[in-house]
Amino acid sequence: MDGGTSFTSVCINTAIYLPWLVSQCLKNGVNFRRGVVKHIADATLLHHSGEKADLVVNCTGLFSLFMEGVQDKNMYPARGQIVLVRNDPGIMATTSGTDDGDDEAVYIMHRAAGGGCILGGCLQADKWDSAVDPNLAVRIMKRAIALTPGLVSEGKGIEALDVIRHGVGLRPMRKGGIRTEREVVKGPDGNAIKVVHSIGHGGYGYQTSWGCAAAVAKLVDESVAEKARL
Ligand SMILES: Cc1cc2nc3c(=O)[nH]c(=O)nc-3n(C[C@H](O)[C@H](O)[C@H](O)COP(=O)(O)OP(=O)(O)OC[C@H]3O[C@@H](n4cnc5c(N)ncnc54)[C@H](O)[C@@H]3O)c2cc1C
Repeated sequence: MDGGTSFTSVCINTAIYLPWLVSQCLKNGVNFRRGVVKHIADATLLHHSGEKADLVVNCTGLFSLFMEGVQDKNMYPARGQIVLVRNDPGIMATTSGTDDGDDEAVYIMHRAAGGGCILGGCLQADKWDSAVDPNLAVRIMKRAIALTPGLVSEGKGIEALDVIRHGVGLRPMRKGGIRTEREVVKGPDGNAIKVVHSIGHGGYGYQTSWGCAAAVAKLVDESVAEKARL
């Protein structure tokens, strides 16, 4: 290793953070409706008032590659795999690369409030496989112990890791970066639908979420104001 740095940062336990966000929305009067949308136009029919929605915010992640009316061909998956363990090395750590290939990584993140410790990982572009790769899991655990030996008692190996579960996720990547923009889409009935896209957040959707949400709110306000002037 040529060099390193240490700093204080924020680590989000998403299992706690996401329900908190839902509770904030409920507190502020948001109406939740669950539904599966085939064409972006279908979303206009989900408004809680029973009226057709004036505008749709598209935040369907990777499904924007397939959704009728969107089909953004710049979207692609980047597969990630992690091991969640009960062990706590006392520090969080990562390196800028590994000796196991360009698409493999090492990071150790201990989540607040008993959320366990995440050992990662990888970033495998265009891989859709949602099954755990056991060989990769072994490499992840070995790299984590090599970087933070405090994960296990001295002299112990991966057998000393207390595994809670293995996980695989597909990051919603996008060639050209995050797409935050307005578009008018033609529905199957020929009617125009106002859409604001917020897709392609890749491996940084939490980090960018507050900024992206502010940008989306601005675009929605602009679109609604235009309608009011008509
Ligand atoms: C291993 C791994 C590690 C990561 N680490 C980090 C990190 O350290 N920091 C960070 O900021 N980010 C990280 N990310 C990335 C982060 O998880 C994503 O960027 C984020 O979840 C993207 O959010 P999103 O809302 O845009 O898309 P998604 O989370 O994919 O949400 C899309 C939603 O749309 C819904 N949907 C899709 N299609 C339809 C349809 N047809 N009808 C109705 N609903 C539909 C889905 O059900 C889903 O709820 C990581 C991801 C992985 C896999």
